Amino acid sequence: MKCIICDRDTKKTYCVFHDKAYQNVVHNFEDWKLAAAVSWKEYLKAVVENSYTGTWAKEVAEHLLKKKDE
Ligand SMILES: [Zn+2]
Repeated sequence: MKCIICDRDTKKTYCVFHDKAYQNVVHNFEDWKLAAAVSWKEYLKAVVENSYTGTWAKEVAEHLLKKKDE
């Protein structure tokens, strides 16, 4: 199958780059939840808008924001 973000061949939903970024995004949310009472969507928006966020993480966050509410 292909990465749902960049079409690279992968065995998972994301390619190695976006999978790593995804793990980081999810992991960092755990810290954010404890520090500030932000929702998942609020957090993702902050990731997208944060200029220090890496490109991979930004693409993952944008993708997750476009998904339907879980
Ligand atoms: Zn990818």
